Amino acid sequence: MAAEIRLFPCLTDNFGYLIHDPATKATASIDAPEAAPIIKALEREGWTLTDILVTHHHGDHVGGVAELKQKYNCRVVAPHDKSTKIANTDARVKEGDAVKIGDLIARVLETPGHTLDHVSYDHISYVFDDDKALFAADTLFSIGCGRVFEGTYPQMWDSLLKLRALPDDFKLYCGHEYTAANVKFALTVEPDNAALKARAEQVTRLRADNKPTVPTLLGDEKKANVFLRADEPSVAAGVRLKGRDAAEVFGELRERKNKS
Ligand SMILES: [Zn+2]
Repeated sequence: MAAEIRLFPCLTDNFGYLIHDPATKATASIDAPEAAPIIKALEREGWTLTDILVTHHHGDHVGGVAELKQKYNCRVVAPHDKSTKIANTDARVKEGDAVKIGDLIARVLETPGHTLDHVSYDHISYVFDDDKALFAADTLFSIGCGRVFEGTYPQMWDSLLKLRALPDDFKLYCGHEYTAANVKFALTVEPDNAALKARAEQVTRLRADNKPTVPTLLGDEKKANVFLRADEPSVAAGVRLKGRDAAEVFGELRERKNKS
């Protein structure tokens, strides 16, 4: 049976996500930015929380974990974390692991860069292959990517390549509603990209109607998201690094976006 997915706003610009297995009634929250809107969404659907899948240790992704665990006695799955700073964790996962939510299976991809792998924390993306759903949290945004706080630019670029390798018909569910600002920046790099211009118009309409800009199709992101396109000559030219290494172009994109 196909999974049911709900998205709703949390905090200022985070997304809350629930994924529900109709066959077993199991329900997972992807991260827990804050408890109240997640509880409200569960009650609206008549679902009971069985699992929380944590992507990384930032407060705006784990702030609601303790309260939800207390209320639902749910399992908390989190990245392999040597310093055990992510509290209330029942299971720690790493690259290649599979997490069962009832009959649904989430595949674990390590996507370090925003937060780091080998020092203490990791950033995990969860892929539900049967439902063609990618929960990429703060690694990949629509028309953007996360800031590189703990890792290096080459490391983040490798993580993005890992996500880019997923099929075009997979849907991207990301951690934040940053798309409008991302589009504005991307147009400074690739002003003639037709897919990006089309996305810009769509985002303007969605935001005017106060609607979320996600999910998006990974295939569309591959055509319009400059951060997934650092190995395209047009993107390298857009940041005056024609012919240079993709990881270097990616680093320049990220630096420029930081300052934008
Ligand atoms: Zn984060």
